Amino acid sequence: MKIDGFRGRLITADHTDYDTARAVWNGAVDRRPRVIARCGGTADVAAAMRFARDHDLEIAVRGGGHNVAGTAACDDGIVIDLSAMRAVWVDPAGRTARVQGGALWGDVDHETQTHGLATTGGIVSHTGVAGLTLGGGIGFLMRKHGLAVDNLLAAEVVTAEGGIVRASADEHPDLFWALRGGGGNFGVVTSFRFALHPVGPTVMAGPVFWAADDTADVLRFYRDFTAAAPDELGTVVRLGTVPPLPVIPEGLHYRPALAVACCYAGAVEDGERAVRALRRFGTPLVDLLAPTPYVAHQSGLDDSVPHGWHYYWKATNLAGLSDGAIDTIADHAYTAGSPRTYAAMFHMGGAVARVPDDATAYTGRDVERNIVIDAVWLPDESGERAAAETAWARGFLEALQPHRAGVYVNFLDSDDDSSRVREAYGDHTYRRLAEVKAKYDPDNAFHHNKNIHPG
Ligand SMILES: Cc1cc2nc3c(=O)[nH]c(=O)nc-3n(C[C@H](O)[C@H](O)[C@H](O)COP(=O)(O)OP(=O)(O)OC[C@H]3O[C@@H](n4cnc5c(N)ncnc54)[C@H](O)[C@@H]3O)c2cc1C
Repeated sequence: MKIDGFRGRLITADHTDYDTARAVWNGAVDRRPRVIARCGGTADVAAAMRFARDHDLEIAVRGGGHNVAGTAACDDGIVIDLSAMRAVWVDPAGRTARVQGGALWGDVDHETQTHGLATTGGIVSHTGVAGLTLGGGIGFLMRKHGLAVDNLLAAEVVTAEGGIVRASADEHPDLFWALRGGGGNFGVVTSFRFALHPVGPTVMAGPVFWAADDTADVLRFYRDFTAAAPDELGTVVRLGTVPPLPVIPEGLHYRPALAVACCYAGAVEDGERAVRALRRFGTPLVDLLAPTPYVAHQSGLDDSVPHGWHYYWKATNLAGLSDGAIDTIADHAYTAGSPRTYAAMFHMGGAVARVPDDATAYTGRDVERNIVIDAVWLPDESGERAAAETAWARGFLEALQPHRAGVYVNFLDSDDDSSRVREAYGDHTYRRLAEVKAKYDPDNAFHHNKNIHPG
């Protein structure tokens, strides 16, 4: 196979790297593309795009390959694979970074922290910048510095026709609006330019764990604690078992527990003050909050969600954290069969809520919490285990029904693809996205994603 103007690698089924190249983070996904076009730069992306359109091929776009629905791979089509495009260039004086479309958050943190700078990224360093940003981008820094999309200044985009455009507040502003939350529906982003902020390099960060039996009490305390917390304090609650990480005493591994993971985006002494009441609450099993390099904190959870395990997610935003919601969470969080299964709840608000709703396509700025229910099992575990974990996740979401307030598009799994995309955006934003889609991708060439139909 040959693609005119393409200088990257073309990987087909007869190639020894084919199985590694088609694998995505979620090992439950097993798709066999006709060709994987591993691009070396923007010119390769444009050439691959033109080839795909000329040959009427199904198109999947791969950034970090982390989406749980496995949309970075497709059967019998072409994968426009940006995984070799991971460069990050920092302008420390201007406090911006240009990031290639296949970079991972660990790449960004590594380069920006050399200058004591950072921008809001995800909580696992092997997640892709592209998919995470295009869906909105939530993380520990968001309450202080906004979502990833709130820090996006410009993007270079290869269009559905194989052309190259720049999107920013001044250039193609309709496209720029849609890229900030509308996912991979509008083009292939070959580079992003982000605003950076002084963070760390040492921050007060880490988790505090309590026994599962304490969940309702801890969450009631945590609700009030976070309501009064400064924007600098980002927290994520993890409910499941204690992950078997080397920093945690072995005797606690896999014990049912909840953790409040914290990261204070400010001076360490101020961070110590901000978390004092939390770590004094009840009887923690283990308290790992300490002055920590920001890059170490950002990769601390990496090994608890490795590539290749099997995953199935359900998610919802929560308007608030009522006593009823807390009781439901406490009742369901520990009833899964797999010790690797967990749920993660993000505290939203702060700078996220201060951006007007219609400024970007990201929807749900007023929600207080965002919970993702992550069923996990090993590749060699039985079909029964998969069915049980999947049913657990569905049941947990069902039980949260009275408390639901929309959903974050990046947490939708494959069986939510069509049915919940409208829920993620709401009618008004969905309609506006459909208009931009009709302008930039009227044939819906980009449909291996959380699809917006051209309207
Ligand atoms: C372990 C883990 C932790 C996570 N933590 C967070 C978190 O803290 N915060 C958060 O907000 N989300 C988080 N997520 C969700 C994450 O935002 C999504 O899974 C996201 O899709 C991952 O992006 P990716 O580039 O790795 O994915 P991919 O699977 O490569 O891409 C997903 C989709 O994005 C589009 N896409 C990818 N690259 C491009 C590109 N260059 N141009 C145009 N479209 C593109 C395509 O439509 C593709 O189908 C997490 C996911 C995982 C698995």
